[in-house]
Amino acid sequence: MMDKIIKAINAAQAVLVASHVNPDGDAIGSLLSTGLALKSLGKKVFMYNESPIPAVYRFLDSVNEISRDLDEGFDCDTAVILDCGSMERVGQAIQRLKKIKTLINIDHHVTNDGFGDFHLVDYEACATSEIIYRLMKQLEVDIDPPMAAAIYTGILTDTGSFRFSNTNAAAFAICNEMVEMGVDPYMVARHVYGTYSLGRIKLLNLALDSIEIWCNGKLSIMTLTQEMMKKTGTQPEDADGLINYARRIEDVQVAAMIHELDGVASAGNDFKSKFHVSLRSDGAVDVSQIAAVFGGGGHESAAGFSIESSLADLKARLIELAGKIPEICGVN
Ligand code: AMP
Ligand code: MN
Ligand code: MN
Repeated sequence: MMDKIIKAINAAQAVLVASHVNPDGDAIGSLLSTGLALKSLGKKVFMYNESPIPAVYRFLDSVNEISRDLDEGFDCDTAVILDCGSMERVGQAIQRLKKIKTLINIDHHVTNDGFGDFHLVDYEACATSEIIYRLMKQLEVDIDPPMAAAIYTGILTDTGSFRFSNTNAAAFAICNEMVEMGVDPYMVARHVYGTYSLGRIKLLNLALDSIEIWCNGKLSIMTLTQEMMKKTGTQPEDADGLINYARRIEDVQVAAMIHELDGVASAGNDFKSKFHVSLRSDGAVDVSQIAAVFGGGGHESAAGFSIESSLADLKARLIELAGKIPEICGVN
């Protein structure tokens, strides 16, 4: 597959590079490194993401070149879609992106549905940024410090700083090489994990307080409502990572974070709202299967989905589904 992608990229002249909505470090790292690499190969490049770039990633070079407006990118002959298990993950631009002549899908989610004309999907890769690193080597790209910082950030964040189950030898080897090229781990860590706004700390307080435990202690549910976000003056990106507190609780095998994106659910449990649900597992349960039931996807130990529902229904469905999983409902 790599050969076909290399050919397609070599043939491309104007490339639109995109990654998933509400981008994480890997979505941004793979987007920037790919965009910069293709530029260095003399291609016309247009970098696109539907959502604002979270403040913690704005230290990366060229991040301001990522556009939220598709219009300029519209005479591209090729699109490279990164870190997306399905095309829907790019957001509202999907129909327009589908019209681009050659679509290349580069990803590491087990639930990847194989969209596009060419796919480079490797479930074993710790991050899409790892695949991009390998692709850059094949394309004989001269990796410069901005590309190196983007790749490093993608791998660092998707492996939870080399702690999650996707952490592999390549994560260390590539990051080591990026550090040798001049990436400063302390500088990156300070930006990505260093400072929390007071609002985020207050949100953390409300989030921790919302945790409920179900299924004999094996399922934890954290709920973030719009009311909490308003009260603390926080943005959706401030919820990133909060689910890890729910997952780390003793005995918990599956943690869910229900994040209300808009609507009025907090005004009462029966109102319908749009929610994003993040799922994490300690490794015993494949949460990508739970996400798939709701039309989402992800990895075995980290997955998610979006849904319109009332908060009460959503919680009830999650609890019911978790209760049917042998590892969770099994005799203990
Ligand atoms: P999150 O829920 O944002 O913490 O994401 C956890 C993992 O699941 C990431 O690898 C995401 O790319 C993936 N994921 C999140 N939401 C969706 C969705 N709606 N569809 C498919 N994959 C998703
Ligand atoms: Mn991602
Ligand atoms: Mn990823």
